[in-house]
Amino acid sequence: MQKFRRKYFNGRCPKCNRPRKLTLIGEDEDVGVVWLRCNKCLETHSYAVERLRKTGRVLTKSELKKRNEAMSEVAEYTPDKTYWIGQKIHHPDFDEVGEIVKKEETSGKNQMIIVEFENQGTKKLVEGFNVSA
Ligand SMILES: [Zn+2]
Repeated sequence: MQKFRRKYFNGRCPKCNRPRKLTLIGEDEDVGVVWLRCNKCLETHSYAVERLRKTGRVLTKSELKKRNEAMSEVAEYTPDKTYWIGQKIHHPDFDEVGEIVKKEETSGKNQMIIVEFENQGTKKLVEGFNVSA
């Protein structure tokens, strides 16, 4: 059964040692790895399934580590930080913890996170806002 609906990913090829377009060749659900072939050097490498994002981006190992750390704790929400989909945040004004379900970009090029709070409902919040600008 194909778990990923996309065939192409963007990630670092270990041989080229730079970001490449990668083609999904296969996956082993039991082991939790996928095989991605570099579109440039045509070598196939295995990647941990958890490194693949639905957006098609393949996380580097240090990004994955940061993501796992972020997922394991509730972050205090401030507009200047950036967040992961699935991450839990505490909003100081609502005094409530919500889960980030989506990301969007506004027409004004602001990054937004869509957060589901149990009492407050679904809220759109700014992320990655440059406070010094
Ligand atoms: Zn390559």
